[in-house]
Order: sequence, then structure tokens, then C-alpha cells
Amino acid sequence: MLHDSCHACGAPVTFYRRDFGRAIDEAGAICLCYQCQFDLRTAPQAPVAIYDEDVFRLYIEMLQALDGDASNAGRFDLKFHAVLHQLCKVMLSNQNHDQLRQYIAKMLGVATEPQLHGKMPLEHRRIFERYQIVFFALWLLVDKGGRIVEEWRRLSP
Ligand SMILES: [Zn+2]
Repeated sequence: MLHDSCHACGAPVTFYRRDFGRAIDEAGAICLCYQCQFDLRTAPQAPVAIYDEDVFRLYIEMLQALDGDASNAGRFDLKFHAVLHQLCKVMLSNQNHDQLRQYIAKMLGVATEPQLHGKMPLEHRRIFERYQIVFFALWLLVDKGGRIVEEWRRLSP
């Protein structure tokens, strides 16, 4: 899993900050934290959490399609990504009171990543949280939406 912050000081990994206010030849190596000079290459590796093998396989196939692998491109069209985006949005919505995310975590038997509160798009959240939200949304889609219908029925009076 990629790191989005310095292991030593917590500063965001922002490679372009190395040259703020400096000449480019004084910027220093981009492998060093701009704030504390920690060598980011030495940070401990965090394993990718695989909460469910089928969902993880779907996640990898989706990423491969985004990376130009045409073998699955039709499966992951704009409609698929629109639904995936909407499910992520629902999970992050304050109106949902975190119920959907907690339900999926319970179904998978995993703890939820700490969630930053407030109205914040998925793209601005921490990498572990983003990964888990997308993973959970894919969990709803892995059986072509059957789990969503099941959940709606569960919540219906
Ligand atoms: Zn640092």
C-alpha cells in the first residue's frame, strides 16, 4: 500500500514541495520528506488489506482495465464507475450516519478505518480510508448488485 504521509512526522507526501522557494538544483531528492528529511523509501511497508478474495480480484481487474488492459474494459465502463462513485458517496454521506459502511464491515468481519468527519470528497481522504471505501463499494457490486437489493430489503419496514 502506498504511503500518503511521512512515517516520521506525518506530513503529506507531496513531492512538489521540495522545491518551494528554492532553485531546482537546491530542491533536494524527492525521496526525502519536505518537512523532516525522513527518507520515505525506508518507511515500513503496509500490506494491502484483502477483506474478501472475490472483491479483491474485482478490484485488481478494475485497476488493470483503468491501466489500459482492454480485456476487461467493457465490463468497467462509465456506468459501472458511475454506480461505484455513487456507492462511495453514499458511504461518506452524513445522511447515511455511517450505517452502510458499518454494515459492510460487519458482513466482512473487519474493523473500519478511522473516518475523517465532515463533508470531504473521497479523493481528499487518507489512502487507507479511500481503499476501504472503494473495496466496500465493490463488495456491493461483486455479485452484480444482489447485495444492494438484499440490504434494501433488510432496511425496508
Ligand atoms: Zn517527515
